[in-house]
Amino acid sequence: MSVRRVIPLTFGWEDLPETISIRGGDPTVRYREPVPGVLLQIDDGWLLLDTGFNTALITDPALRHRFHGDPAIQPVLPGPGEPLAEALAGIGVDMADIRAVAVSHLHNDHAGGLKHFAGRVPVHIQRAELDYGMSSPPGPESNGIFRVDFDDPALDWRVADGDTEIAPGVSAVLTAGHTPGHQSFVVSLDESVGGGGFVFAFDAADLTENIEREVAVGGRIGAAPEVSVAQIRKLKLIAADRGYRLVPGHDPVVWPALTAQLSGAVTSA
Ligand SMILES: [Zn+2]
Repeated sequence: MSVRRVIPLTFGWEDLPETISIRGGDPTVRYREPVPGVLLQIDDGWLLLDTGFNTALITDPALRHRFHGDPAIQPVLPGPGEPLAEALAGIGVDMADIRAVAVSHLHNDHAGGLKHFAGRVPVHIQRAELDYGMSSPPGPESNGIFRVDFDDPALDWRVADGDTEIAPGVSAVLTAGHTPGHQSFVVSLDESVGGGGFVFAFDAADLTENIEREVAVGGRIGAAPEVSVAQIRKLKLIAADRGYRLVPGHDPVVWPALTAQLSGAVTSA
């Protein structure tokens, strides 16, 4: 069986300038971008793609000063509690039914919720990403990758070197550039629910504009703009080949629309 249901989640938002998402963008234009996650229903439960913020680093004033002190990029939490718990409660999914997690990359808006899964389930990541995340400071932290989010000996890493299948119907595709080991995901729906699928770019393409204009993301760690554009083209080819929809990671219009579209769209349990 491939994937039987796809549920987009929103773990909060980020207020930031266009230049973060669009190379050469207007620094005076600001967006409130959603912080995405995706739940995929697989054979024996759910696979979660990305985990949102580490709330403690936002709600504790001293930690916030250290980790989110840049006024240009500010996190917005969706509610008073843990965004992951609130998102799961909102759709009636039990945290205990999440069987595995995969992270696109280790930026704080994607890896901050890994603390919920330490000692519990396998966590899929690219080797280049984990190696960079564990590398000496100040590089990772100065680039928005906070070691406290994932440097936990109880995390059960499943490390990949390039493109790989992580569950039936779910493949990781190495799209390095935004970060050294960024991965995107190709999700194939089971024929029993109509087939088809999605390519979730995550931060290989923040916005529809990245995809349509083939313009690099603004945030890149040690990668030329051409590398980002090549990854966008790679994802567009995969999507076109399979007839799947390519979904940008942080689009303020696309993400809520897709969430609304997929809510209740598939009824199989
Ligand atoms: Zn990122």
